[in-house]
Amino acid sequence: MKKIVLLGASGSIGTQTIDVISHHLDEFELVAFSVGYNIENARELIKQFPLVKVISVANENDANELRKEFPYLTIHFGDKGLIELAKLNNYDTFVSAIVGFRGLEPVLEAIKHCKVVALANKESLVTGGTLVKNACKEYGVALYPIDSEHSAIFQCLQGNSMKEVDKIIVTASGGSFRDKTREELVNVTKQEALNHPNWKMGGRITIDSATMCNKAFEVIEAHYLFDIPFDKIDVLIHKESVVHSMVQYRDHSIIAQIGSADMRIPIQYALSYPNRLQMFNDKPFDFTNFPELHFTKPDFKRFPLLEMAYIVGKKGGNLGAIMNGADEEAVSLFLDDKIKFLDIEDFVIEAINTIPFIAEPTLQELIDTDHLSREFVRNKFVEKQ
Ligand code: MG
Repeated sequence: MKKIVLLGASGSIGTQTIDVISHHLDEFELVAFSVGYNIENARELIKQFPLVKVISVANENDANELRKEFPYLTIHFGDKGLIELAKLNNYDTFVSAIVGFRGLEPVLEAIKHCKVVALANKESLVTGGTLVKNACKEYGVALYPIDSEHSAIFQCLQGNSMKEVDKIIVTASGGSFRDKTREELVNVTKQEALNHPNWKMGGRITIDSATMCNKAFEVIEAHYLFDIPFDKIDVLIHKESVVHSMVQYRDHSIIAQIGSADMRIPIQYALSYPNRLQMFNDKPFDFTNFPELHFTKPDFKRFPLLEMAYIVGKKGGNLGAIMNGADEEAVSLFLDDKIKFLDIEDFVIEAINTIPFIAEPTLQELIDTDHLSREFVRNKFVEKQ
C-alpha cells in the first residue's frame, strides 16, 4: 500500500489523481491533501477518504470553517500549509499537482523528508531545477514525472542507458492558436485561447500552451529530469497529441510512447512505477481513429517563448524563476482581461532582459526573483494604461 500526500486535489491533475487512487484502493491510500478555494470539494474528499487526517486549504477563514465541521482533522492553510503536508511522516509518495512557483518549497521539503516525488508541478524544475536535483542527490530521492511528455520520455528510457541517447523529441500540440499567424493573434480573446483542441487542462496551462510557454517550460523540465543537455532536446509540433514524446538512440532507433490524450495514464504510471496497473477508463487507444499523424518543426519567430527556453535554460541561474514569475503574472492579467494575448510574450521577454541575473541563486534569492518578476509585469501593465 502506497500512502499518498496530494497537493492540488481539486485541480485538473488533482481530480484525475483522485480518480486513479479511488480505482486502486488496494494499491494507494490518500493520507493528506490540499485544495485551494474549492471548499465543497474538500468536504467531499474528507467524506470519500476517511483515513485522511490532515488537509490544507488556501485561506484561514475556510480553514476555520472546516475546523468547526471536522474537529478531528488537522487543517492548515496558505503556502505554509503546503509545506506542513510535505513534512508529514506517515506517507510514501508526494504528488505535487499545484500550479506555479509556490510548488517549489513543498517539493524541496518532501525531498528532505526522503519521500518519492511524483511531479506535475513543472515550475519547481523550471525555477529551482538545480536546487531540486541537488536535494534529490543528497537525500537519495526519486522524482517521477506526471507531465505527459516527460512520462512518455521516462517510459521510452526504461531498460536503456542515457549514454546511448542521441536526443529526446518532445512533442507539442501547438495549443489553441497553432494555425494562426502572429498578425491574427493581435486581437484573440481569452475564450479562444482557453479552447485547447486536444487536452482539457487548467486555465494557466491552456494559455501557456497557446503561447508555447508551456513547451518552453517542458524543455527546461526535461533537461533537469533526465540530465540531458539542451542541444539534445528537440521540440516537434504534432497536432494530434497521439505520440506523447520520443527518444532517439545512437543507433537511430526511435522509441515513442503513444496513447490517448488522457492524463490518468501518466498519473497512474508515476504512482505505480515500476509496475503498470490496469487502466479503468473506457477503451484503449485505437489507431484507426488516427489514420494520419502530422509532425512539423516549430517556428521560433512564431513562438518566441519557445526559443527563450533554450537561452534561459542554457544560462540557468535565476532566469527560469524570472521567466516563470513574469509568465504567471502576465497570464493572470490576460485571464482578467487586462492585457492582450501578445503582451504576455512581450512582458516575459522584457522581464528576462531586465531583471538582474544571479548565477547560483539560493531558495531565498529565487523567492525574491519571483516577486521582482511579478512586480515588473504589474508595472508594465500600469505603464501601458
Ligand atoms: Mg505537458
